[in-house]
Amino acid sequence: MKLTLPLQGYFELLRHQPGEKKYVCINCGRPVTGLYRQISSTVLKIIDCEKCKNPADKYIEFEVLIILIDLILLSKPAYRHILYNSDCKNLWKIGCILILLEAYCFWTDAFRGITSISYRSHVNDPFLSEKGFYLSTVHFVVGFCLLYGFIYLFTRALHRTAPSLTGNGKSYPHMLLHGVILASIGKFLFIPIIIWRENSTETGMAIHIVLVLVYFVISLVQIHSVISECARTRSCLIVILAFIVKAYFLTRVSGLLQEFV
Ligand SMILES: [Zn+2]
Repeated sequence: MKLTLPLQGYFELLRHQPGEKKYVCINCGRPVTGLYRQISSTVLKIIDCEKCKNPADKYIEFEVLIILIDLILLSKPAYRHILYNSDCKNLWKIGCILILLEAYCFWTDAFRGITSISYRSHVNDPFLSEKGFYLSTVHFVVGFCLLYGFIYLFTRALHRTAPSLTGNGKSYPHMLLHGVILASIGKFLFIPIIIWRENSTETGMAIHIVLVLVYFVISLVQIHSVISECARTRSCLIVILAFIVKAYFLTRVSGLLQEFV
């Protein structure tokens, strides 16, 4: 099955040689030198992890669709596979699409069930109306930066043993950024709100938005726990604290942005 861009590039497996790049066992998170061994010209064998004795990355043999289903089911091995053993070069594009999607929902008042903030001008002018979309985009870019920044700060404060380098040799802030974007993929579930908003009640839309946000928080906790190598309860505390502080500062920022409407 072929996925459309940019997801297609994102889920492409690396065509690598052992030793070229650092990889991680998806079961225990321990670094491994490679993912497979070439037995003959037509036979490859997945390398077993020295620590847990399981295949280091079973997903290199799997269809993209199976990996996608495991991601939706919040599987930690699937997150490790995507973050450490796959090519993440298109992740920033997914992040941009998601920010624009949220900004569009916000601009069209699809989120009115859960927030009173609005950047829509009451003057019937196409230019002023469009300006509201740009302000919504700024709102979500600032929200993303605040969330990422506070998760990083709280992790450094509450989990001092967080690694400075992750299993695949990349820096912790770099992988955390990837993780926050990857957790945001659940926000694609906002799309049905845009499609069916005319046939939905305000309460129904509010429930839908809250469920998507809860899913986002749970996936963020899972990913944080994978990248920071800490217990799920501590990740939960860090992520929820970051959300609360972010919401406080974002309300201040939105007050400033509304002056430009
Ligand atoms: Zn292992």
